[in-house]
Amino acid sequence: MKNGNIGVTSDNIFPVIKKFLYSDHEIFLRELISNAVDATQKLKTLASVGEAKGDLGNMRVRVVIDKKKKTLTVQDHGIGMTADEVDRYINQIAFSGAEEFLDKYKDKTEAIIGHFGLGFYSAFMVSDKVEIFSLSYQEDAKAVHWSCSGNPEYQMEDTIKSERGTDIVLHINDEFNQYLEDATIEGLLKKYCKFLPVEIAFGKKKEWKDGKQVETDEENIINNTTPAWTRKPADLKDEDYKTFYHELYPMQMDEPLFHIHLNVDYPFNLTGVLYFPRIKNNLDIHRNKIQLYCNQVFVTDEVENIVPEYLTLLHGVIDSPDIPLNVSRSYLQSDNNVKKISAHITKKVADKLAEIYKNDREDFTKKWEDIKLFIQYGMLSDDKFYERAIGFSLLKNLDGKYFTLEEYKKEISDKQTDKDGNLIVLYTQDADANYAFIERAKQKGYDVLIMDSELDVHYMSMLEQKSMGEKGDEKGMRFVRIDSDIIENIIRKAEDDKDAPSYTDEQKEGVRKAVEAILPAADKLNYMVSFEAAGEDALPMFLTQNEFMRRMKEMSAHQQGMSFYGQMPDQYNLVINMRHPLVKELFEQMTSETVMEQPETKEGEEPKPAVEKTVYTLAGADERLHQLMDIALLASGQLKGEALAQFVNRSVKLLN
Ligand code: ADP
Repeated sequence: MKNGNIGVTSDNIFPVIKKFLYSDHEIFLRELISNAVDATQKLKTLASVGEAKGDLGNMRVRVVIDKKKKTLTVQDHGIGMTADEVDRYINQIAFSGAEEFLDKYKDKTEAIIGHFGLGFYSAFMVSDKVEIFSLSYQEDAKAVHWSCSGNPEYQMEDTIKSERGTDIVLHINDEFNQYLEDATIEGLLKKYCKFLPVEIAFGKKKEWKDGKQVETDEENIINNTTPAWTRKPADLKDEDYKTFYHELYPMQMDEPLFHIHLNVDYPFNLTGVLYFPRIKNNLDIHRNKIQLYCNQVFVTDEVENIVPEYLTLLHGVIDSPDIPLNVSRSYLQSDNNVKKISAHITKKVADKLAEIYKNDREDFTKKWEDIKLFIQYGMLSDDKFYERAIGFSLLKNLDGKYFTLEEYKKEISDKQTDKDGNLIVLYTQDADANYAFIERAKQKGYDVLIMDSELDVHYMSMLEQKSMGEKGDEKGMRFVRIDSDIIENIIRKAEDDKDAPSYTDEQKEGVRKAVEAILPAADKLNYMVSFEAAGEDALPMFLTQNEFMRRMKEMSAHQQGMSFYGQMPDQYNLVINMRHPLVKELFEQMTSETVMEQPETKEGEEPKPAVEKTVYTLAGADERLHQLMDIALLASGQLKGEALAQFVNRSVKLLN
């Protein structure tokens, strides 16, 4: 029998560490099982080089609960420890390690939560007393029993143990009774140990028999010891990757679109399998997260600092012993290995997409709508990814055809280059709402893209910016929503300016006043009256919305610091088409009179003499004018409620 004092200075180190790790005390199980697995692997290694002799027998690690004794035992058949080794590894190293650890993180509680480093010592977070029963693999070794009740004193004595290996027995503290519940332990094992390389057994397998679950004789194995990412890609079929996906995310019903098998051993170690899920909208995001493992031990599914943010949209597993796990998050971001890992993953993901695009464009195109959000997000947040992805990022037109940016530029450059040499890309976010505008653009032989996803506005802005910097004398490229102006103004052509009707400013003022007098006064909506010479076949009046303002508002919905735009009222132009016969009639109907007008003078100035001015008035056209304006509102879906009812009544009346 040997009694001693563990090399810890403070008598009260246990309560301190309990408090520190309060929110994360469950990791004790991960730590103990990791040790058991290490001990097992070490013995296998020794056996493979002939240093351990004889049959190794069943090497399963077992977790056993004894409710009566209130103990939880982790049992392995690994190398075991001699009394000497317990003294060295547990009494000296483990405890001094813990003390060092505490010292280092005294002021940084968060830094230690959920990270490795506590090892064996973490057993004391949930136990009143911890016992070790161990028999070393070495010939003629004597079994040893060690126990410690949570203060720096321990007892050590010889014992009788027939099986090689180590039992760690935790006498669970009353406060932590949940760790004596099967369901809790099974849950933790599934979380941390699902893919450990040594079998972990917990209880017996259950079976449905005569309508209820009964225990079988077979042990219940928690883990898959050879998960997909640890195997050679050549040995795996598509089906295997899918099966593994569902093993990772049992609640996920959808199949992934494609997978990437990561396998690097220089200049850092990294393995893993990443999956592209279908991403339809924001709701899908972050439901299943990428899981980070360290030598098949689950560490975390908070990988934000290890991979670029947009890659967190992917699912799957990353396993790397080179990611420092016991350091703070801010340190992670500046860690060189982490940066390299992040760059590597980005490259791999882009390469894989490029490969699929190249080898099977049809399949890629079919999946495009499901991966578009991911690719656009990646391009928006990472220049390197942009450069790789611009070659396979697709645009879709109203006929359902897909183009890369290069292809699309070629497709439209003949027709949609304006007289100043700018390439104008037309798009709609809602083909039904923009129907009339789209028809007019088509009549001119123009093409219209559909850009209706959450990121499209940002994506278009990015493409515009990038196009400005392109070399050569190529002019910029601009995206313009089809209803932002009349098509003749969106794509200005020299010939459009010919024989446009010419009314004087005074005449226009007359019409403007008459229109403004009957404009609806809706909240948050503002209408500006303007005059354009659109085609004779266009509507006499219609609404357009300024591209810049509208885009700013849309972007502000996603971005902080732009709420200024979000609060601005919606701005519409009520365009009066001077080429339309009905509008021409309005102009001709106006009466004019000459009045004397006093020009404004500033303070201290001599009053100027009055000048003659012609004032136009549109009288007697109230109903027709109202009708024309309502048609403009109706065509944009803005005629509602009472105004709509009045319009209907007026229409019936005018037909009489
Ligand atoms: P770490 O595992 O990080 O080295 P621990 O405090 O968890 O730190 O363990 C200290 C040492 O005790 C281990 O390195 C190992 O040598 C020994 N040890 C712990 N658990 C076992 C076990 N189940 N079987 C054999 N040796 C063990």
